[in-house]
Amino acid sequence: MITLPKGTKDVLPENSYRWQFVERVARETAKTFNVREIRTPMFEHTEVFSRGVGETTDIVNKEMYTFLDKGGRSITLKPEGTAGVVRAFVESGLYAAALPLKTYYITPCFRYERPQAGRLREFHQFGVEFFGAESAGIDAEVILLAKTFLDNLGVKNVTLYINSIGCKECRKEYHKALKEYLKANYDGLCDLCKDRFDKNPMRILDCKNDSCKKITENAPSILDYLCDDCKAHFEQVKKLLTLSGVEYKINPKIVRGLDYYTKTVFEFVSENIGAQGTVLGGGRYDGLVAEFGGGKVPGIGFAAGIERLLLLLESTGEIKNEDGLTVYVAPMGDDARIKAFELVSMLRKSGVIADTDYMNRGIKAQFKYADKLGARFVAVIGSDELSRGAVKLKNMLSGEEKEVPFQELAEFLK
Ligand code: ATP
Ligand code: MG
Repeated sequence: MITLPKGTKDVLPENSYRWQFVERVARETAKTFNVREIRTPMFEHTEVFSRGVGETTDIVNKEMYTFLDKGGRSITLKPEGTAGVVRAFVESGLYAAALPLKTYYITPCFRYERPQAGRLREFHQFGVEFFGAESAGIDAEVILLAKTFLDNLGVKNVTLYINSIGCKECRKEYHKALKEYLKANYDGLCDLCKDRFDKNPMRILDCKNDSCKKITENAPSILDYLCDDCKAHFEQVKKLLTLSGVEYKINPKIVRGLDYYTKTVFEFVSENIGAQGTVLGGGRYDGLVAEFGGGKVPGIGFAAGIERLLLLLESTGEIKNEDGLTVYVAPMGDDARIKAFELVSMLRKSGVIADTDYMNRGIKAQFKYADKLGARFVAVIGSDELSRGAVKLKNMLSGEEKEVPFQELAEFLK
């Protein structure tokens, strides 16, 4: 038997309604915020991600699916959504369009990670990217969109953590203070963090390694180093969130940690799904569009992991399955079988969810099959029914039976 590659999963027919539910809620929520969909390729030139995600991140350092194509180009499967969208934004000259431009995507992502619950090698994200607005209002709107999405899903017990990582200017002072603090414990840092110490010390705050976590426990807080502009921006975001009734906690350890990430960063975290508790993360990236040659256009966005959301929804409640079959038409005999074929075609034209037998099963086996499918009604056609031009319609829940003429069946079932 040929099996799945490690870290990937099939979505089988009995489960796809869960995915469709999350995707539907994502699209509907985006729509109410006037956000339109953008689709970018599943693979890009590797440079898109090494630049757009950053050389010092886990993603670029060790998680990318990178290969040479037959033309010798270095290609990478998208490990996240933002970089490709920014590339498209610049390449299509969208910065010259009406701003802010508000986009969303639903996409598979690929990362070579150690698979475990909530951590896969192919996973899926719903994300948004907003371009062109500098004001704190758009930060609050993006966070509110995320919150509304989670509420609309029925996700409970998630905490919103927010932080500001300032701008290049305030970070200079902060890096100095942070490195001063970390220096004393340098030997206790993991190898990756030793490497980060010079390249990008803020990422150390985000390390999952226990020893690093311990060391950073009492590290200086970026919030004490914000410049006046960044401080005012953060105050305004908090004010707008409070005004919108969005509860949050401040966590100065949340970093996106790249040069072009600025000011607001945030995460929604659940306690219910184990170690991989971050279901949604986002932030402002005022320097990223420029990194792609698109000039000084600010941006902000988030990405939510769909697998983690599904885990969370499973742990707190059921998603309603609306896939159910309305009517199963059960023929007895060859003439009835032809009538059944005609009848289901007619029903489907009227929008009724209908199915019939193609396995030449006896009537008992057909009822059993219809039951498995969760059919609400079974319409039996035997020779009697054929001659009377009607079906014997059984309500599978109440057991009630009733004769309904062929022509009235669609109307009756709707
Ligand atoms: P983590 O700290 O869990 O590794 P991350 O910082 O790498 O997360 P992001 O790059 O911010 O994650 O991606 C946004 C979201 O995508 C995460 O919050 C999570 O819900 C989801 N996600 C990230 N990596 C994976 C993965 N390997 N498998 C499943 N979901 C993932
Ligand atoms: Mg990760």
